[in-house]
Formats: sequence, C-alpha cells, structure tokens
Amino acid sequence: MTAASRTPIVAGNWKMNLDRSGGTALAAAVAGRRGDAAGVDLVLCPPAVYLVPVAEAVARAGGDVAVGGQNACDKGSGAFTGEIAPQMLLDVGCRYVILGHSERRTLYGETDAGVNAKAKAALAAGLVPIVCVGETLEEREAGRTDAVVSQQIRGSLAGLDAAALEKTVVAYEPVWAIGTGKVATPEQAQEVHALIRGLLAGLASPATAAKVRVQYGGSVKPDNAADLAACPDIDGALVGGASLKADDFLAIARAFAAAGVA
Ligand code: PEP
Repeated sequence: MTAASRTPIVAGNWKMNLDRSGGTALAAAVAGRRGDAAGVDLVLCPPAVYLVPVAEAVARAGGDVAVGGQNACDKGSGAFTGEIAPQMLLDVGCRYVILGHSERRTLYGETDAGVNAKAKAALAAGLVPIVCVGETLEEREAGRTDAVVSQQIRGSLAGLDAAALEKTVVAYEPVWAIGTGKVATPEQAQEVHALIRGLLAGLASPATAAKVRVQYGGSVKPDNAADLAACPDIDGALVGGASLKADDFLAIARAFAAAGVA
C-alpha cells in the first residue's frame, strides 16, 4: 500500500481560539467549499464548548467535514471534574479526537502512558484518535529525535492490536516547528515518518503499518504543503495557525488532494 492508497487527512487544531460566531463562520466556510479538496478527509477540532455549534454549522453547509475534540479523558464517566469522556465527544457528533498534543504533554504533564490509556478509551468508544508525537529542538540537536519519537510511539500505542492501529492516525509534530513558522524540511519530515512507519510495522506488521495514516504538523501553510504532501509517508497535516483561515486550510487540503491524485 502506498501513500496514494491512503486517504489523506487534514485536521485543523483551533486550540483555544475563536468564539462561537467566528468558529461557526469558519466551519461553514470550510464545509461550503469542501468540494475543493475532494478525496481528502477534513476534520475541524474547535474548543470543546463549540463542538455542537460547529457540527451544526457543518451540517447546515452540507459538507462532509468531520468534527473532533482536542483532548479526552481515559474514563467513561464519573467524578472527574473538568474532564470529557470519549463517549461524550461521540455523542455530540465527533468522529476524531486529538491526543497527546505537545501542548498537553508540555503544559499539562501528559505522559505516553496517559496518552495510551486515552487512545484505548477513544478507540473503545468508537472515536479515531489522532496521536501526536514529536521531539523538541534540544532533543533534535542532541541527535535524539529517533529515540524520542520511538519511545513516544511505543508508549502511546502500546497494546493496540492491528485493527486498532489501522484506525488510529499518528501526527508527527516536531515541537520546534509548532507555531514557530519553522517548518521541517520535507526530507526531515519524511525521514521521521518513515521511522514511524517502521515502528508501526514492528508493533503489528508491515501490512498494518502501510494502512496507518501519518500526518505532519508544525507550521504547515499553503506555500509549504505541496512539498510535504509529495513525500511518500506523509498522509496529511495537523494544522494549527493556518486552520483558522478557511482559504489557508482549504489550500493545504487541496495540496494533499493534488498529491493523492498524482
Ligand atoms: C499544532 O498545534 O498542532 C500545529 C501544528 O500548530 P501550527 O500549525 O500553528 O504550527
């Protein structure tokens, strides 16, 4: 299975940005022009309180655009103040959930074991987890990229069987490229994506690894998306800043649509 046979997936991580009217307007604009990026799965991940109005705006605009959470609890219900269960995300229309984003790992102390528990809970609930991994600048400069990413992949995806892995999306996001304007070169990104695919083969089999979609994230913009999309192991993008503008988000999605057809 090659990149051409994996459906590209472009997801917008809105983080803690936009209010209700800005978010619904953006969702409507993306969904209304969704046909621009036919053949690419599109996902919008607004702040949790806006999941419902964003899902409604997408439905009104009639576009096949999925909605996802930015985090989820590893428990199904109970006394977990401030948390949101995967089943609750599903219940309000989510199909995806981002897990282990570097901001969650760095600012809120999330560990590989915690991300692993959340990924299992998300899959059990019927959500597709987008599991994020990536090295810091310090780790890259110390030549530790492979070791760090390997540990994150093995820890975050431990115990997932082949069927679970095939549903999971992995996002390689070098921390030094997130929100900094410093994008990894296509060569740097492809090298780590190939490493990740090899690790997935080790966790399951080469056939399973060939089916897993691995996104790149870190300052993806319309002007660098085509070069990233041309890499054989890059199957889409997790987009932060550029996902807040419909034109930019759709231009990135179009770059992956074009690469998929090539
Ligand atoms: C992200 O937060 O996942 C991200 C990739 O952000 P940005 O595109 O702004 O670098």
